[in-house]
Amino acid sequence: MTLDAAHPLAHDSALPFALPDFAALEPAHYPPAFEAGMAESLAELEAIAANPEPATVENVLDAWEASGRLLDRALTAFFVTKAVDTNDALDAIEAEFAPKLARHSDAIFLNRASYDRLRALAERAASGQIALDAEQRWLLDDLLAAFVRNGVALPDADQERLRALNTRLAEVGTQFEQANLAARNAGAVTVTDEAHLDGLSAEEVASLRQPDGTFRIDLVNTSQHPLLAKLTDRALRRRIFEASVTRGLGADSQGAAEPADTRAIIVELARLRAERAVLLGYPHHAALVVERQCAKTTDAVASMLGRLAPAALAQARRDADELAARFAELYPGETFAPWDWSFVAETIRRERFDLDPAALAPHLGVDKVLAAVHDAAHRLYGITFERRPDLRGHTADAEVYEVREADGTPIGLFVMDFWARPTKQGGAWMNSVVRQSGLLGHRPVATNNCNVPAGTTTLDWDGVITMFHEFGHALHGLLASSRYPSKSGTATPRDFVEFPSQVNEHWAWEPDAVIPADLADRLRAADTFNQGFHNLETWSAMVLDQAWHTTPLADLPVSGADVEEFERRALEAAGLTYDLIPPRYRSQYFQHIWGHGYAAAYYSYVWAEVMDADAVAWFDENGGATRANGDHFRRTVLAPGGSVDPMDSWRAFRGREPEIGPLLARKGIAGQ
Ligand SMILES: [Zn+2]
Repeated sequence: MTLDAAHPLAHDSALPFALPDFAALEPAHYPPAFEAGMAESLAELEAIAANPEPATVENVLDAWEASGRLLDRALTAFFVTKAVDTNDALDAIEAEFAPKLARHSDAIFLNRASYDRLRALAERAASGQIALDAEQRWLLDDLLAAFVRNGVALPDADQERLRALNTRLAEVGTQFEQANLAARNAGAVTVTDEAHLDGLSAEEVASLRQPDGTFRIDLVNTSQHPLLAKLTDRALRRRIFEASVTRGLGADSQGAAEPADTRAIIVELARLRAERAVLLGYPHHAALVVERQCAKTTDAVASMLGRLAPAALAQARRDADELAARFAELYPGETFAPWDWSFVAETIRRERFDLDPAALAPHLGVDKVLAAVHDAAHRLYGITFERRPDLRGHTADAEVYEVREADGTPIGLFVMDFWARPTKQGGAWMNSVVRQSGLLGHRPVATNNCNVPAGTTTLDWDGVITMFHEFGHALHGLLASSRYPSKSGTATPRDFVEFPSQVNEHWAWEPDAVIPADLADRLRAADTFNQGFHNLETWSAMVLDQAWHTTPLADLPVSGADVEEFERRALEAAGLTYDLIPPRYRSQYFQHIWGHGYAAAYYSYVWAEVMDADAVAWFDENGGATRANGDHFRRTVLAPGGSVDPMDSWRAFRGREPEIGPLLARKGIAGQ
């Protein structure tokens, strides 16, 4: 099956930097592109395996990386678009193709002839007949490992079972994504009387107003909702909190006509993953995942979380005493509850650190913050950003920027989509639309996606940090300098990829970067307050992820009704039961681990933060956000991306192994 030459995905787009022609793409374009792309990819890989010539870098690795371009273009355009603005047609296409794509992946990685061809190259390299450079060796090692980890060495009957498991996992994974979005939408809280919105700015109130005169508060991905810090009405805070943490639990808790219930879906996902791991020779899914991460073993992960999480709980209990005392003054005779925590913490923060949100607001305009994000990158890397209003991004209201080196050489495109919409995934993320590749002559196109409520023009400080964070991922893609597209930029292990993005958050705090120096100082002092809360909610979510993916199949829940009990016992076993602070994500809406590839890897954020804090210490020791320091970071960490062992990149940057001291100091748990 071939694709008509006039099809918008048939070739690399003719737009600058091969930016896909998003305006021309309709849902109907995708199915034929997927079908033709899968067929093309398999034919190309078959030709590589069947080549009678001795194996070389060119006819194995280069050919491998140059294959499957049509499918790659089509999938990238599809998923980038779908994530920001889905519809029934795109949902149906995803549901139809998820299992087909899983079978396609199996057709690649269960192909013994392909595996033998890669091994032939490895053998020629080992015997000195050909020389591989570091990038080639890393790619080859990784491909060989991928084949084994995907079951190429299994007997036929086991491969058959594996194919069935992978197909079913793809179907159920798609079900989760769609059910989770439905649960988030179903949980939205409606307010009829504007008086209940006391505490919000006029702009915030306006952004919630519906055509029928009511006010709609949409849930966010996390257990905590940003408005809980502002609303003075306890009853409304409680409604938002309860809607947030009970979403996805079905009718019992929400009473909706068509309850959104994700529990049976996540149980099936966990069980399928556990069964697959055993088939592949691992004790559980987490062992399979972590083997190719920086952490290497689940013991290493458990030991880090075991060191941090109990300290966070002790911290949180101390904070709670302080908050409960202030709460008693604010609401005499009432009982301090989970939905009060953010509000009281914000009150104390304002009082103690003299931080008036109104004083911050003039500096936190959406456009101003993006300009500050770009300025920080200019200071560190010399790069510049110029708006390209002539180019359309992956949604109509995205902004496109051309990125250039200090000497004017074009680097690539950065596409920014700020705005929330009901058809968009929650949270914030970066995508590579085009991965940089020397082999293919591709320059990078990277997106950032946030969920700023439409009609809002001012961010809160968390929103600022999020923009710097996601832009750190974008820089990882934009400043990549790799030969192979599959290893370019952010294509690193998960517990490494959050390291550059977290380092980039740091530049938001620089005096006069976003806010004036005196405000930045007060904000930083305030940031150390209430840390127990953030540490505990994040680290308990990490513990929960590990529990779902290290529990043997026989001990996993068998029905959706067991989900809450499993979660309770997992937190109890880790000594983290604390009713005032639920995990950042409860099991039934933990999108990172059920839908987004962070299964057994949510710990990555804190693992990478060890490197982040240690890297920031390096910048501090060496004079801060200077161009020379930026260039060192770019050369050692950003440019190589995933094309070499990430710990080699780390050592080239820091000159030694990572140390945890700077993280403990940052988290306020040093010496515990
Ligand atoms: Zn990130």
